[in-house]
Amino acid sequence: MLDKDIKDLKVLIPEDRIQSKVKELAQQIENMFPSDEDIYVICVLKGSVMFCADLVKYIKGKVRMEFIRISSYGNETKSTNNLQAIDLTLPDLNGKNVIIVEDIIDTGLTAKFLVDLFKIQHKPKTLLFVSLLNKKCARQTKIEPDIYGFEIDDKFVAGYGLDYKGYFRNLPYIGYFPN
Ligand code: 5GP
Repeated sequence: MLDKDIKDLKVLIPEDRIQSKVKELAQQIENMFPSDEDIYVICVLKGSVMFCADLVKYIKGKVRMEFIRISSYGNETKSTNNLQAIDLTLPDLNGKNVIIVEDIIDTGLTAKFLVDLFKIQHKPKTLLFVSLLNKKCARQTKIEPDIYGFEIDDKFVAGYGLDYKGYFRNLPYIGYFPN
């Protein structure tokens, strides 16, 4: 049984703020690439599904979408440092423009794993790490996203793709459970 109810979730970032930020980030990304070059957007499932889907809608350009799946939290609300690569199947990205799209950067371990992997295995021409949320204060690595939407405190958040025990991903806003 789920021990939290949607009524317990306090809104942290409302839908309209998310949407205008996503448009802003898309514009920033669009301006970074020549319009005739392919941009490979890598959606890191499952958490970045909403953010990535919205982001690509606002990028005018030759966008190609790819999906990988990683799990780091399991059913916990703290990073377990136990990263599980579930599916990393990708096409040849050698010499391509690549954007890794994440929902949130917390300890930074997932980001570091992905950036190292892409640099070593795929050798892209350009590699950008984009995250909607940035929990700067929880960082355990030196890595920072190239572009991010909102800096947040070290609290567990859910909604807009981010889950609590598999629930709340469908919400159009981001919330947290007050203690
Ligand atoms: P990191 O490796 O930076 O510690 O964590 C990255 C992953 O942990 C994210 O992609 C996300 O799946 C999960 N995560 C980190 N913080 C939160 C949070 O506050 N809420 C939820 N639902 N997931 C989180």
